[in-house]
Amino acid sequence: MKTFCGRANPTIGSMEWLEEGEDYDYHQEIARSRYADMLHDKDRNVKYYQGIRAAVSRVKERGEKAIVLDIGTGTGLLSMMAASAGADFCYAIEVFKPMANAAVKIVEKNGFSDKIKVINKHSTEVTVGPDGDMQCRANILVTELFDTELIGEGALPTYEHAHKYLVQEGCEAVPHRARVYVQLVESKRMWSWKKLFPVRVEAEDGEKILVPPSEMENCPGVPSVCDIQLNQVPSSDFTTLSDVVTMFSVDFSKPVQSASTYYRVQLEPVKSGKAQIVLSWWDIDMDPSGMINCTMAPYWALYINPFQWRDHWMQCVYFLQNEEPVLQGEKLLLTACRDEYSVWYNLQKEEHKADVHVESPVCRCRAHLLWNRPRFGELNDQNRTRQYTMALRKVLKTDSVCLCISDGSLLPVLAHYLGAKQVFTLENSGVSCSVMDKFFKANHLEDKIKILEVRPELLKPSHLEDKKISVLVGEPFFTTSLLPWHNLYFWYARTAVSTHLASDVTVLPQSASLHMMVVEFQDLWRIRSPCGICEGFDVQTMDDMIKDSLNFRESKEAEPHPLWEYPCKSLSDPQEVLTFDFTRTVPQHCLSTEGSVNLLRKGKSHGAVLWMEYHLAADISVSTGLMQIPNEKGNCEWNPHCKQAVYFFSSVIESEILSDPTAVTYAINFDTKTGEIAMDFNSALDEQSIGVSVLYV
Ligand code: SAH
Repeated sequence: MKTFCGRANPTIGSMEWLEEGEDYDYHQEIARSRYADMLHDKDRNVKYYQGIRAAVSRVKERGEKAIVLDIGTGTGLLSMMAASAGADFCYAIEVFKPMANAAVKIVEKNGFSDKIKVINKHSTEVTVGPDGDMQCRANILVTELFDTELIGEGALPTYEHAHKYLVQEGCEAVPHRARVYVQLVESKRMWSWKKLFPVRVEAEDGEKILVPPSEMENCPGVPSVCDIQLNQVPSSDFTTLSDVVTMFSVDFSKPVQSASTYYRVQLEPVKSGKAQIVLSWWDIDMDPSGMINCTMAPYWALYINPFQWRDHWMQCVYFLQNEEPVLQGEKLLLTACRDEYSVWYNLQKEEHKADVHVESPVCRCRAHLLWNRPRFGELNDQNRTRQYTMALRKVLKTDSVCLCISDGSLLPVLAHYLGAKQVFTLENSGVSCSVMDKFFKANHLEDKIKILEVRPELLKPSHLEDKKISVLVGEPFFTTSLLPWHNLYFWYARTAVSTHLASDVTVLPQSASLHMMVVEFQDLWRIRSPCGICEGFDVQTMDDMIKDSLNFRESKEAEPHPLWEYPCKSLSDPQEVLTFDFTRTVPQHCLSTEGSVNLLRKGKSHGAVLWMEYHLAADISVSTGLMQIPNEKGNCEWNPHCKQAVYFFSSVIESEILSDPTAVTYAINFDTKTGEIAMDFNSALDEQSIGVSVLYV
């Protein structure tokens, strides 16, 4: 079956209709799935196995047959554990067809076909009875349906249904219970992901302070969870104001209610400060005694060793609606409200305790729809504002007519304060127009900066009051960008508005360059690495399936990751691989490059990281990737507001020797027609080289 899928092309700024086979979506899903990461999560796997063994023994001790219901079986792993532990029969439910097919193969390969029945259905569609999917109700309920927020993948309604229709009363559940923990903190860094702070601009006639509109100040923000690798936030970036407390728990062995509700705890700050953020994580007890515990606690709250890295479960950052000054020892009430799929928080002083029901956060100011959390952080970065200010100062004159092309950027305001005669800003969406309009009004700039809601190719002289643009500026930043080079849309927009530019126009940034570096990841490699055998079960079928999906489009693709969350060591020097000259229009021909990069440090080359640097003006550049040259150990500092592109090598190169550096060759091609960047990397060594081996991990 063929279907037409609409796909936005962020670089050239168009929508394309592509004919895709029905396999397309599922390949995308498998290739970027978290199955590999889960299979590498040793701590999780070991504890599930222990919990399942204990549950099977408890049922057997009662003299009953052990009938297991495994909801969301994935590879079939937990059912195979149950069968090995002596379960009499397992019903393995999986809604995602390609996974259900994989589970059938894996179960067969491991010799459990007579004990495990894979059912390709959503659990709520499963029937019980002599002619049903299940002969009888199960007495052991095994699931792994949790996300970082615990309930975001629909665990509660699934459990509610399973207890009503699929399992016996008094069944054993693995996990047995979950607890959600919270800790109140003050953190300027995390708060800057939700609020726009006043922006300071060193203007010609003194310092100007830009303020956000009051509507933005009091906006509850968006309900989507902010999940991060909290262990990568240095302790200097936040102050804990309370102890860690248990917010709520769920007993999975009893009927579960999914309907909206709330939980309340009393908190006494251990320190005075500004309450802004609730940090949260959970743990699960695999058995009723609580002896088999799997926790997501960050390093400062971790009571077990060794630490297990994982990316499928992280920690949550919740933003209070407004910051609240709190005093050490005073009585506070923290409320967690939840619906079926998400959680949000509200803090009150005990004496002001009022209505407990708080609505789920819905953005009213629209800025939270325009700017995502990293973008808020970026706009709040005063260092970055200073660099743009310095660059603009170099290029602006008192008679400058300035056009800004970016989504929801503050550059037009900077250009105005720094003395441009006239400023236009081209905004691509209704949301960005409305947010910019409110922002300009709050700062009495509505008559100074003109917002144009028009696509660049449709810009007419009348929009610009028949003036020619002398300074064209962009950050560049576009909300549709996923990979670093997608912001090259600026170049296409610049090309589209060419006829409106003065012959001596200044373009800022004047150029961009693509940079690349080979790295060894501390942990991120796990998410794309085959697993082979997991707790004694052969899951290679899954590895092959992921590999097939990764190779589905022949040329493998790079994927975006915020590397400040994923430590890595540089094995090569950073290298500039392509440059893009914004002073000229986009050329008709492709831009390609080939070369080699030497591995200077000992380590495993898991892949290449790519990022963009923008050359704003002479001597002023901003990087969306590496912030400085790595030190001699190869430690890297990444731009905390941007995602970088990661291209995982299909085989890992292990370099041992430094005297004769190993080389990796690359070929990178930027197709200016499609806006796509294709790349290929090869190791120039053969397997016999001394001290060097090419490994398939
Ligand atoms: N149990 C496996 C995989 C867990 S991932 C393991 O522990 O390794 C969760 C899986 O559950 C996904 O494959 C998802 O497609 C499936 N799933 C989620 N909710 C489901 C439901 N209600 N019914 C059936 N499958 C479900």
